Amino acid sequence: MTSYKELGLVNTKELFKKAVSGGYAIPAYNFNNMEQIQAIIQACVETRSPVILQVSSGARKYANQNILKNMAKGVVEYAHELGYDIPIVLHLDHGSSFELCKDCIETGFSSVMIDGSHFPYDENVALTRKVCDFAHSQKDYVTVEGELGVLAGVEDDVSSEHSHYTQPSEVIDFVSKTKVDSLAISIGTSHGRAKFKPSQCTRTPDGILIPPPLRFDILEEIEKKLPGFPIVLHGSSSVPIEYVHMIEKYGGKLTDSVGIPEEQLRKAAKSAVCKINIDSDGRLAMTAIIRKILVEKPEEFDPRNILGPARDELKKLYSHKNQNVLGSAGQA
Ligand SMILES: [Zn+2]
Repeated sequence: MTSYKELGLVNTKELFKKAVSGGYAIPAYNFNNMEQIQAIIQACVETRSPVILQVSSGARKYANQNILKNMAKGVVEYAHELGYDIPIVLHLDHGSSFELCKDCIETGFSSVMIDGSHFPYDENVALTRKVCDFAHSQKDYVTVEGELGVLAGVEDDVSSEHSHYTQPSEVIDFVSKTKVDSLAISIGTSHGRAKFKPSQCTRTPDGILIPPPLRFDILEEIEKKLPGFPIVLHGSSSVPIEYVHMIEKYGGKLTDSVGIPEEQLRKAAKSAVCKINIDSDGRLAMTAIIRKILVEKPEEFDPRNILGPARDELKKLYSHKNQNVLGSAGQA
């Protein structure tokens, strides 16, 4: 049994309060290897941004939960070594069961998501409540994110063919019955790098897909029902076309890629949205650079010379997000 405070981590409570009143969002970046977590910490220390390190159940399977936990512990020291102690949260992304959440809480996570959004409403309430009761009764309060509404797309073990928007009429009841600390909602974001079908989009003259806008009307209604309550957006990568083009130039194939435009995320971050999840953009940045190097330097076989530049690109991407999209730079 390890408490997150022993690892030097924090929960989301204070961070979200400040983010909601300050009109910015905390970045929630997924990681499952060393180069990713180094890039995240370098970018967040340099831009003075708080950060949520997210682990999905797929990442736990890929990298092992004890290794991931100790990486999070390690980067608390790494940030200190880089010269600035930013607040760092270790968060379970899309917890699928009470047991998984409990396990993470007991091994040092400071925050968990219980995703009961695919269950009937009452089951979602009961499951979320059970996780909150356990998390909140720990010696060091662990924060819990719940979800109402279903996002389309695929993310590790979570997939859904059809989305449905969060119903504002349900949010007060859900939050008061479950006692969640934050709520993930569905207003048109989506998991993965092809967030919409081409038939849902329009196209620019050169064929680039323009996605349908987020449902800010639903977000506003939810904010009216729950003033100041922390709201979370999943599936919020922008899928930069430069990376898609680079990947395709060097032999990849990512047909019909489309993400959420950064201006819309910036607008959302100014509202009660205080956590924005970004995973696919990091995958694209790394893959683009790796493909470029493998093609341009066929003699290269030292993984450090392949993954190192990919890490530098990731850092650049995350710094840009903190400064220009989320507004979290300077808030640590
Ligand atoms: Zn998600």
